[in-house]
This record gives sequence, structure tokens and C-alpha cells, in this order.
Amino acid sequence: MTRPIISVDNVHKSYLMGKEAVPALRGVSLDIEPGDFVCLMGPSGSGKTTLLNIIGGLDEPSRGHVTIDGENLVALSENKLARLRLHKMGFVFQNYNLLANFTAQENVEAPMVLAKVGRRERKERTRSLLERVDLADRAHHYPGELSGGQQQRVAIARALANNPPILIGDEVTGDLDSESGLAIMRLLAKLNEEGMTIVFVTHDPRMAEFARRLIHIYDGKLENGKGRKGRSPVGGVVDASESHQSKPDGSNS
Ligand code: ADP
Ligand code: MG
Repeated sequence: MTRPIISVDNVHKSYLMGKEAVPALRGVSLDIEPGDFVCLMGPSGSGKTTLLNIIGGLDEPSRGHVTIDGENLVALSENKLARLRLHKMGFVFQNYNLLANFTAQENVEAPMVLAKVGRRERKERTRSLLERVDLADRAHHYPGELSGGQQQRVAIARALANNPPILIGDEVTGDLDSESGLAIMRLLAKLNEEGMTIVFVTHDPRMAEFARRLIHIYDGKLENGKGRKGRSPVGGVVDASESHQSKPDGSNS
């Protein structure tokens, strides 16, 4: 078995609301292997964003730890964590989070500036990334001049700026019409086929179908935390070790 690229080990997270601790994650363990395409589904408030943020080093667990490509996030200095985030993980959010006063091209370039990539290479990579997301002709447009689907594709190009092995997406199609949403998912599927490890959250079963592995979260706990899952076309979870037998609903696959 390959070493997991993402390993979440008994992570708990509580937020303090006044004097009361509100539990958001209650002992989550999860291994994700390189090249996997994982969809996390669960009701609003179940801890999906909290888990993604902790995996992405944007938030810290109250207990437990997260290892990314062999590095324990909790043990890293601020600087090393920032570097790891810049090089190992791209983030895409529901609201695109583009810089409004930057053009598409400048948004995509921004993480390369942070990573101190030279100007010539930056321009070259930005051009090829915008081509990749089919927006070469929108390089000089501002986010306000782009549709939601186009803005999300700029956000994906930006997430890919420093060639990270991992892409993390939180409700990336949540604000899009279904055609644009499907286009985004097809793009993610293509990236996954090329080897990128992807973890994303969605409410939409049509988007979830693109994943290789589906994980449900309820009240801060995973329903199917461990083990390798096979492709599950109808949204059920099929454990690879059992997939030659039957689906969870009892039917033969
Ligand atoms: P989801 O993304 O599944 O909708 P979240 O991870 O955002 O859920 O939230 C999980 C729980 O943690 C919810 O009860 C939410 O209210 C709480 N929570 C999330 N972020 C904070 C925060 N910054 N402060 C206090 N409570 C929070
Ligand atoms: Mg959320």
C-alpha cells in the first residue's frame, strides 16, 4: 500500500462560543492515497468545511493531527506551514475568492509571486494555465467581467499555479448553474486522471458521482472513514475489498 498523501488521525475540533465549546469534529480519521478523488458529503453544519480547513492547514485541530505528504502540520513552524500550503495544496472555494482588482492573469500569477517564481516563468505558466481552463481570451478581464463558471475556472488555474499535488475544493459548484458546475467537475476529473489528488465537498449528487470515493460526515464524525473505496456510480460507497460481491443496497454491481 502506498503511503497516504493525506492522513487525518483522530482529529477533534471545538469552537469556543462565549464559554461554551461547540464540537465541529469529533474524532475524524481518514487516509487518502495519492491520485484519489474523494467527495465528502454531509448536511450543513456537519463539519465539512472545518475538516477541509484543517487538512489545508488553514485551521488547527483541538486534538489529533494531520500529515500531508509525510509532514505533520501541527509540528510545522508558521513559515514551513505557509510554504507547504503554497506548494502542496491548491484551494478552491464556493465564492471563488478572486481578488476583484486583479485581472484573471494577475489572480493566477499571485501564488507564483509568493513562491518567488521568476517573471518569465510566471508569464509562461499563467498563459498555459489559462489555456488549460479554456480562458486564454479572458486573461485581461477582471472577475466582475466574468461569469461565475469563468471565475471558478480562474480560481482553479490559480489553485494550480505552483503545481501542487493536492487540490481541495469546498462547494466549488455551489453557486453555479448545472452546466457550468458539470464543466468544473469534468475539469477536476481530468486533473485527477493526470494524477492529482482531489478532495472536495458537495451537496449535489450529480457532482459527487465524479469522485472515486464517497465519504459521509454527520455531526463531526465520518460514516465511512477508513479503507479504500471503489468507484460508486450511484452515490453509494463501495469498499474495494467487497466490490466484487455486492453494493451496499444489496444489488449486484
Ligand atoms: P459544514 O461546512 O459542514 O456546513 P462547518 O465545518 O462550517 O460545517 O461547521 C461545523 C460546526 O462548527 C457548525 O456547528 C458550525 O456552526 C461550527 N463552526 C464552524 N466554524 C466556526 C467558527 N469559526 N466559530 C464557531 N463555530 C464554528
Ligand atoms: Mg461548509
